[in-house]
Amino acid sequence: MANQEKHSGLLIVLVGPSGVGKSTISRRLEKQLDVCYTVSATTRPKRPGDEVGKTYEHISREEFFRRLDRDEFLEYAQVYDEYYGTPKHPALDYLAQGRNVLLEIDVQGALQVRYQYPDALLIFILPPDEQTLRRRLMERGRDSPAEIEKRFRAARREIQMAKGSRAFDYKVINDDLDRAVDEIVKIIRHKRSGGI
Ligand code: ADP
Ligand code: 5GP
Repeated sequence: MANQEKHSGLLIVLVGPSGVGKSTISRRLEKQLDVCYTVSATTRPKRPGDEVGKTYEHISREEFFRRLDRDEFLEYAQVYDEYYGTPKHPALDYLAQGRNVLLEIDVQGALQVRYQYPDALLIFILPPDEQTLRRRLMERGRDSPAEIEKRFRAARREIQMAKGSRAFDYKVINDDLDRAVDEIVKIIRHKRSGGI
């Protein structure tokens, strides 16, 4: 609780499996709402298409663990075989300035945020169905077939876990993009106006 009391901005977390549409939705949210986006650090090597979607800071494992030891991450997780983390700065600086911060992270990281920042808004993004998720992963054209299978299998576990969890404030199905974005904009405005 103490962590959150220091901040006046809203920490908004879009959670969900790879390929569900988090980056696509957050790019739309940035146009409609006053939100700051932060760049995650990852040990995952850069792949074609990274620049078009979410941009990461790609770092070595040694550097990742150095930063972890120095407590520089707001949250982090091992996803598939790589590490991903949200740097504390500038996210906490934006929050302290009263600005809204938008994170796109996996379930494990979201649960850390839930614990550390109970007032954060956690929105789980679901695909309309499994086959649509698989198609989106393929059509994105960024990952190899083996990577896609790995992401798809992890997605099944994450979705099952999310369905049975009360950690998330809202679950939104990314069926039609405009509709899903409208729903999320309403949720964020509601929360900003004092509702949960
Ligand atoms: P994530 O950030 O969750 O990994 P992306 O935003 O990269 O997912 O989306 C994965 C793919 O699905 C992209 O090619 C994107 O254009 C497409 N996509 C996202 N949302 C929708 C939607 N509502 N309808 C159709 N395609 C979508
Ligand atoms: P991808 O490699 O497909 O871009 O991302 C793989 C997974 O890592 C996705 O589920 C994505 O949400 C998650 N991810 C990306 N950045 C972060 C981060 O900073 N922290 C955590 N916990 N997960 C992240």
